[in-house]
Amino acid sequence: VARRDGGARTQRFKLSILEDVRTRVELEADLRLAIERNEFLLYFQPKVEWPSGRLVGFEALLRWRHPVKGMISPDLFIPLAEANGMIVPLGRWVMREACSTVAAWLRQGLSPVPVSVNVSPVQLVEDDIDELLRPLADFAVPLDLIEIELTESAMMDVIQQNRGLIAALKASNLRIAIDDFGTGHSSLGSLRRLPIDIFKIDRSFVQDTGHSNEAREIVTMIVAMARALALDVVVEGVETQEQADFLLAQGAEIMQGYLFSPPAGLETATGWLQRHQNDDIFAAPLPTRGP
Ligand code: C2E
Ligand code: MG
Ligand code: MG
Ligand code: MG
Repeated sequence: VARRDGGARTQRFKLSILEDVRTRVELEADLRLAIERNEFLLYFQPKVEWPSGRLVGFEALLRWRHPVKGMISPDLFIPLAEANGMIVPLGRWVMREACSTVAAWLRQGLSPVPVSVNVSPVQLVEDDIDELLRPLADFAVPLDLIEIELTESAMMDVIQQNRGLIAALKASNLRIAIDDFGTGHSSLGSLRRLPIDIFKIDRSFVQDTGHSNEAREIVTMIVAMARALALDVVVEGVETQEQADFLLAQGAEIMQGYLFSPPAGLETATGWLQRHQNDDIFAAPLPTRGP
């Protein structure tokens, strides 16, 4: 009996692996066609100064509108694209799209906020900085309206494979954020050598600040470290006003998260830009009064 059960379990296990592989192969084939078919789009998530509620930036986040499977999360297809090299053309598409969007905003007479673009380490090994920044020149986008986000672990990997990168990044004057900061393995020594401008504190710490003293201490430390290195701090994944107030008390006032808005499409983002010069769009609602 035991053997038969074990056999059945193995069989089911094999089937589920096959299922996964089939989906993976299918997705991979679809991914190759998706750029041509125009299935990618960018969402924009506001970065907000707290407690004023002022819009101070956007993060561009990639979405894949699959004709059959619907919206597919980047967490699913980015690793696939990194494994098969598709991330290189895809990453180029993202930078072009971000620049073309900023250029359109400028043409409409809006005053845009800086847009940050996530860049995969695979792309930075393949492409040089000139290639990465080509769309800025093509669309006449000023350098201070585009930033890049590199995850902490990606940054460390990439500088080992592409020794010229640090110098090239420095020379480019591009603003660079370390994404998911606190989850990687960078040493203080290496951080000091890197041309970094911004720490983006990973949302896992923020989400634990309500119940974990340790998470609160880590946030406090990262903010202190940023100050010591003269870097800016952005906090991601802020979902509650309590979290926002705690972060503010630590000296971190630029935030991103569902408290303000989830990532939104182009029309919504354009609407925010139309209002942001005379309106603190994301200000906390006034406390409601009783009758
Ligand atoms: P990330 O760069 O750390 O982006 C933040 C992620 O957190 C986004 O997920 C965003 O929707 C989500 N988020 C924002 N606020 C909140 C919040 O308050 N609570 C929670 N629970 N989540 C929040 P998304 O858009 O699914 O992207 C996932 C990851 O995929 C990104 O993490 C980034 O690493 C990668 N990614 C997205 N777009 C691109 C891209 O164009 N190129 C590359 N290479 N990677 C990308
Ligand atoms: Mg990011
Ligand atoms: Mg992040
Ligand atoms: Mg992330």
